[in-house]
Amino acid sequence: MNAPNIAPIPFLDLKSQQARIGPALRARLDAVLAHGQYILGPEVAELEARLAAFCGAAHCVTVSSGTDALQIALMAEGIGVGDAVFLPAFTYTATAEVPLLLGATPVFVDVDPRTFQLDLGNLRQRIADVKKAGRLRPRAIIGVDLFGQPADWPGLQAIAAAENLFTLDDCAQSFGAMLGGKRLGSAADATATSFFPSKPLGAYGDGGALFTESPARAALYRSLRTHGEGTTRYEVERIGMNGRLDTMQAAVLLAKLDVFEAEIAQREAIAAIYDAELADVLETPARVPDSSSAWAVYAVLLPNAAARETAQAALKAAGIASAVYYPRPLHRQPAYAACHDGASLPVSETLGDRIMALPIHPDLTHAQVRRVTQTLHAALAG
Ligand SMILES: *Cc1c(COP(=O)(O)O)cnc(C)c1O
Repeated sequence: MNAPNIAPIPFLDLKSQQARIGPALRARLDAVLAHGQYILGPEVAELEARLAAFCGAAHCVTVSSGTDALQIALMAEGIGVGDAVFLPAFTYTATAEVPLLLGATPVFVDVDPRTFQLDLGNLRQRIADVKKAGRLRPRAIIGVDLFGQPADWPGLQAIAAAENLFTLDDCAQSFGAMLGGKRLGSAADATATSFFPSKPLGAYGDGGALFTESPARAALYRSLRTHGEGTTRYEVERIGMNGRLDTMQAAVLLAKLDVFEAEIAQREAIAAIYDAELADVLETPARVPDSSSAWAVYAVLLPNAAARETAQAALKAAGIASAVYYPRPLHRQPAYAACHDGASLPVSETLGDRIMALPIHPDLTHAQVRRVTQTLHAALAG
């Protein structure tokens, strides 16, 4: 039964954020309405400079979505038919869809059972599998910083260097996270992020960005996002796409970037309460060493599917939202069945039954967080 007189706790609360930053947001949007440059207006260049400075990357190129950021990064490397792109089986579909759209083959890799990040031992095995089968050419690794924590980038870079592979960081959930004292954005050859409204730094529509240390790559990304244009507007140097971030979204993101660091700190404080108050009744998320998370998702593990059902039912009865990312690994999805080589990926295959995500956003009050933890205690203790 819904507890009377107590407001439900939603998974996300973009309305409270909007109320908090409303005047700055409206001033930014009014400026765009006044100058009218809706495509590649001055806010786009301003945002690119600010995002690059924020994460310490040499170059930032904004694009129309996180998915398009991944696609442009692979197009720039000429990845296509006959190429193997290694990526986790336990991620959002966009990571794997992009290589397939370009004619390349996603090769699914298992993840670590505690941090949910790419398993380096399994990655080495999968690269060896592909070389032994001899049908595909190993070309790239897409490492996903799942739920906001960084993948093991030093480890991934070492494997990529030994195998001569391009590395792409799918940072869609983790922009703002740190590894080795530095924000993500230059841990791989290229970094792609998303500004989908529910991501830690979200626009009011679709958006994304690419980061790289390479001026040549940055120039290619700019060309590819505008139909492969050359040095002048109607010179077509290559096949590209319509992949620009629009000026209105850049304006929204500039207003949100002003409060982003404080919002990450608020998410971190919520994660700390969850950790402290839930560790005795379920498995709280293991931390990647020497890192901090952007906390896109706070995911816990229950012992089995029945325990998760109990937990989700209790939360729902108390008006508290929860979610399951991801119920099924990609290699078990109908769309990817034909491209999977049949390897078993046991961690990815069982996480979906046990995992559960709890509300975490900057406008969640600590009293609300305690309602979540008390509800779970009552349902799971004893
Ligand atoms: C959200 C997400 C994407 C796609 O970003 P869009 O902006 O929605 O296209 C890609 N990879 C991961 C891991 C994501 O979570």
